[in-house]
Amino acid sequence: MTYLCIDIGASKTLIGTGNRDLESCTRVRTDEFLTEPSMEDLPMEDIEKAMIATPGPLDREKAVIYPPNIPGKKIDMNELLSPNLENFFLVNDCNAGVVGEYVFGETSALDMVYITISSGIGAGVIIGDNLIEGWMGNFAEVGHLKVGGDRRCGCGGRGHWEAYCSGNNLPNFAYDLTGKKFKDAEELFLRYKEGDTSAKKAVQKMKEYNAVGISDVVNAYNPELIVLGGGVAVNNPDLITSGLKSMLERDIICEMPEIVTASLEDRSVLFGLLAFCHLDEKVDFLQDQHTSIRPLK
Ligand SMILES: [Zn+2]
Repeated sequence: MTYLCIDIGASKTLIGTGNRDLESCTRVRTDEFLTEPSMEDLPMEDIEKAMIATPGPLDREKAVIYPPNIPGKKIDMNELLSPNLENFFLVNDCNAGVVGEYVFGETSALDMVYITISSGIGAGVIIGDNLIEGWMGNFAEVGHLKVGGDRRCGCGGRGHWEAYCSGNNLPNFAYDLTGKKFKDAEELFLRYKEGDTSAKKAVQKMKEYNAVGISDVVNAYNPELIVLGGGVAVNNPDLITSGLKSMLERDIICEMPEIVTASLEDRSVLFGLLAFCHLDEKVDFLQDQHTSIRPLK
């Protein structure tokens, strides 16, 4: 008997199977959200429990996702996964991410926030040893905090953090700011390291908007620790964190938190799902130290 953990992202899906540890972890590049890999290809033999993480917003009890970039669209995960996967738990990926770093990461704290900067931007929050899930399980969509300006976000709003700094939006923002095209965020960062003037201008603005978003998170949640995850942060840790604290000092009113990048790299969410599997089992190593995070119902 084993666990199946699936982290469905916009450009990559991670599939982990195992028991106490994830003995197997497969990464599948995807061109379109939820179209690959085929659910018929999933390893289904001897699966005791399945946990799935997706970006929000979602209705965890009904297992329905409402993609913010497709207004009015609703994806019923029960229909999508049936009949290959009849019983599963659905969880917001950032909620899983914070639990993964909390339980299995190198650095954790009783009050901590996990922020993903990837295709989109979002956060998972643990306060006083409790995972804060919110109504329907969508705490905390910080990517849609207003950070200034009127740039249109994929959700339809304006001036949202994600509209400037997510991996998907950064190249377009850089183009509008400088008139120079970058294929993707990675190319922008490469040109920045080479000293390209346009790339430097765009990265500086990105850093300023990141500082506004993160200072809002610090002022709202008063965390002792912030873990930055997601592809943009994990693949470019120095670039994302350098100078960040001095920029935050202008705007935060409480103590400066420790800020690190995710020690589990791209597997924070996957290990959070594994932790949820174990929580239902009341496994000792979780019960001893993390007594307040409740099993999912
Ligand atoms: Zn938005």
